[in-house]
Amino acid sequence: MDAPPLDTELLRGFRFGCRPDCGLCCFTTPAVSPDEWRRVRTVRPELTTVRSGGSVVLPAHPHGGSCLLLRANRCSAHAVRPHPCREFPVTVHVGERLQASLVLSCPGLDLGGFRRDERGAEPEGLSDELAAVRARVGPETRRQLEQAVRRRRTLRRRLGAEGRWEEETEVRAALREAVPTPDRDDFPSVPPPPIEGPWEALPMYFDQRAAPVALAERGDGWVAVELSAAGGGRSVGVAVPPDRPPELDVSARELLTHYLRYWLERDAFFGALHLEMLDQRPGRMREEAGRALREIGAATVTAAAVRAQLDRGVVGTLGLDDIVRGIRVVDLDWLDRPTWGGRL
Ligand code: SF4
Ligand code: SF4
Repeated sequence: MDAPPLDTELLRGFRFGCRPDCGLCCFTTPAVSPDEWRRVRTVRPELTTVRSGGSVVLPAHPHGGSCLLLRANRCSAHAVRPHPCREFPVTVHVGERLQASLVLSCPGLDLGGFRRDERGAEPEGLSDELAAVRARVGPETRRQLEQAVRRRRTLRRRLGAEGRWEEETEVRAALREAVPTPDRDDFPSVPPPPIEGPWEALPMYFDQRAAPVALAERGDGWVAVELSAAGGGRSVGVAVPPDRPPELDVSARELLTHYLRYWLERDAFFGALHLEMLDQRPGRMREEAGRALREIGAATVTAAAVRAQLDRGVVGTLGLDDIVRGIRVVDLDWLDRPTWGGRL
């Protein structure tokens, strides 16, 4: 049976170069296959795996710490690192098709790839990551795709019976040219998890420090915590998130629109949206997609304003770089939401 094709349209025009001083993607517990685990054991025989949500993963230091294989900000098993580490920042949603997308929290990605005039170009610096993805696409992937198509059919039937279903192509076409951006009612935006923990769930970003910074909610605002690879961390500031939309300059507004349009093209967006509609949302797909985009926009602008406060003290008008920093905080967190499709 032929391997299904990989849609890489959402990678076009982007440039990637891993930042050796970063380590953000190592503050995690990567999934590991049996073969990969055998290879990791040759380098670190004392390690044991952990079960997490149906996967076998490498262990991490507790309380927000890094993967146990990270030493002095470097992977101590680089040659045998498992597939999530080889493929990051590429992520693949298995829905009606295999759609590759980028985890835009990664600071090694140049967000200039959003610009339409560059979208025809092949991605730069991602050949190893794409080769690692393609090496895992096989007959089992086709079975995953078939399962995802069946799940979508069930959702379509149930939402259709309530008169709430519209095809993704129609919703995309309707919203692409007039992308809904957040308004007053979308603020205050969804806060990060509380400081009491678990810290593993906190949104993180690279801030040119020794380790990533995580945001958490505390009574007096959002606290920024510089994490330690060994677990725990120290507060490096508190900021009060805006309760109304901050001013954005023209370039910031334009970048936010590009970002929300990118979400509209991700199959994972619709996968998560359909599940939400089934569980709790009353509207038709177009309204719900618009609401979800405004919610992502509000989270991005809020994270941008919080980082601007932490960096500059006073927030006036947010600019392009501020929105880049907001995207770096929120993207992985939103991508992590459950969808009816799986991940490769
Ligand atoms: S988050 Fe991106 S830049 Fe940072 S270490 Fe991982 S791949 Fe490299
Ligand atoms: S295995 Fe290596 S590259 Fe992967 S998360 Fe752990 S330290 Fe990072």
